[in-house]
Amino acid sequence: MDELLRVIRQIDREGATFGTSGNASARRDREAFFITPSGVPWPDISADDMVTLATDGGAVLHGHRRPSTEWRFHQYLYRAHDWIGGIVHLHSPYATVLATINRPVQAIHYQMVRVGDLVPVVPYRTFGTPELAEAIEAVIRPNCRAALLENHGLAAVGETVSEAYQAAMEVEWTAMIQYRASLLAQPRVLSSDELRAVRESFRHYGQHPTT
Ligand code: 13P
Ligand code: ZN
Repeated sequence: MDELLRVIRQIDREGATFGTSGNASARRDREAFFITPSGVPWPDISADDMVTLATDGGAVLHGHRRPSTEWRFHQYLYRAHDWIGGIVHLHSPYATVLATINRPVQAIHYQMVRVGDLVPVVPYRTFGTPELAEAIEAVIRPNCRAALLENHGLAAVGETVSEAYQAAMEVEWTAMIQYRASLLAQPRVLSSDELRAVRESFRHYGQHPTT
């Protein structure tokens, strides 16, 4: 819950989405997860507004607010993938631009490989519906940690909610570079060999204990 609140504050501070668009959640344990309330502006969300839902079925276990309208896609993903610990959904501008023209985010920059080799676009479905939840669930897996939602925005997952937010921002940044580069020429997409080499280098990147 503390980490979810920290990420909510960060989303608000960094202006990653606007108004009441987007939502975020964090797994409590195998049985339940915390999710943001529906339609409450990011700066106003407090711990007391958070809703606890059952991973299996989505029943409200705790909270006095109505959960995010997108609770189903969060629930389907937690139920399907034990490794997912957090989920972030944003209407961030560049990801949404590409989503409106049904263009996936491609591996035009190496940084993206931590999210996947490609961020696919899932077909348009009305927000908050089981159909949208199914469309998102169909593409998310350990080597595809984000999706664009056609004419809507982006969804990203991680082992923690901080990781999910990091993945969302990698996608937003790459979408921005892809969009801007495309104004000049067709950007080059990294080959599968190049992506494999990046994945290998990332295993030793940063303050890794074995480096
Ligand atoms: P909620 O305020 O219900 O989370 O909805 C925002 C949204 O982005 C729906 O897709
Ligand atoms: Zn949305």
